[in-house]
Amino acid sequence: VAKQSGRARWEVYQDEYRREALHRISVEAELRGAVERGDFVLHYQPIVELSSSEVIAHEALVRWQHRERGLLLPGEFIQVCEDTDLIVGLGAWVIREAVAFLARHPELPGRVYVNVSPRQIGRSDEGLGARGLARTVADALAEAGVSGDRLGIEITESGVLQATDLARADLDRLTELGVVLVLDDFGTGYSALSSVLQAPIRGLKLDRSFTIRLGDGGACDRISTAIAALVDSLSSHGVVEGIETEEQRRLALAHGWTHGQGWLFGHPEPEHALGLPTAGQSQRVPATRRALRTRA
Ligand code: C2E
Ligand code: MG
Ligand code: MG
Ligand code: MG
Repeated sequence: VAKQSGRARWEVYQDEYRREALHRISVEAELRGAVERGDFVLHYQPIVELSSSEVIAHEALVRWQHRERGLLLPGEFIQVCEDTDLIVGLGAWVIREAVAFLARHPELPGRVYVNVSPRQIGRSDEGLGARGLARTVADALAEAGVSGDRLGIEITESGVLQATDLARADLDRLTELGVVLVLDDFGTGYSALSSVLQAPIRGLKLDRSFTIRLGDGGACDRISTAIAALVDSLSSHGVVEGIETEEQRRLALAHGWTHGQGWLFGHPEPEHALGLPTAGQSQRVPATRRALRTRA
């Protein structure tokens, strides 16, 4: 009996495994089509000065505009992309889109930061010489006529720690374009500090897993204070992620942080909801209508 139920369990397990594998394959196929068509949209979340709530930059966050399922968050698809080369095509789309957004909004305060996966860094395409992220970024900037000092890249520690010589050269070239690199989700990896030495990192973002524990009067508060001091001594920029309450803002300020991001200040929103002046409005309104309007 035991043997039989063991076998039954094994079959259930195999069934489940097969279903999951099939699901993954179909998601991957669907995503491949979506990347080819560009069925995605970027939402932008403000990064603010904690003391004044003044917007000093934005982070671009990708969403999949799924034909049947509606708008999907990265949690539903980014891992599949990162496990395959799909992230390279999607990542290039994200960069072009963010740069085009910058071109439409010259008045935007500060930089737009895009998230980049380790797989996008230090690639060299056969026969074409070094291509990599810096080349993708340089092409996008040139095409849109946007300066590199308006763009930032968020990268996780694993992206920096896995850096080969080729990857390191790619990151160096990015900074030559005026683009800055910041470490995302700081504190969630291991060997966080050595990653700061392995790439030209200009800032770091304290992961939300710390933010939700701020005010514990113990380890989290002390770590937060120590990292803020470290950021300061490295003359880099620090951002506290996932601030949802006034209490968290107050604590982050008390610990020495200057910048933050989170629902307290603004959710990620599509371009049209950001309250920015419509790009090229004057050019798009036909001359005759413009004349009528000025007379009215
Ligand atoms: P992340 O880069 O750490 O982005 C912050 C995430 O926290 C975003 O989730 C954002 O919507 C969410 N968030 C912001 N403020 C708050 C808050 O106050 N409370 C809570 N609970 N959450 C907040 P989202 O948009 O679902 O993105 C998840 C992750 O997906 C990102 O984490 C990033 O690692 C990845 N991702 C997003 N866009 C891209 C992309 O274009 N390329 C790559 N490679 N990864 C991306
Ligand atoms: Mg990020
Ligand atoms: Mg983050
Ligand atoms: Mg995160």
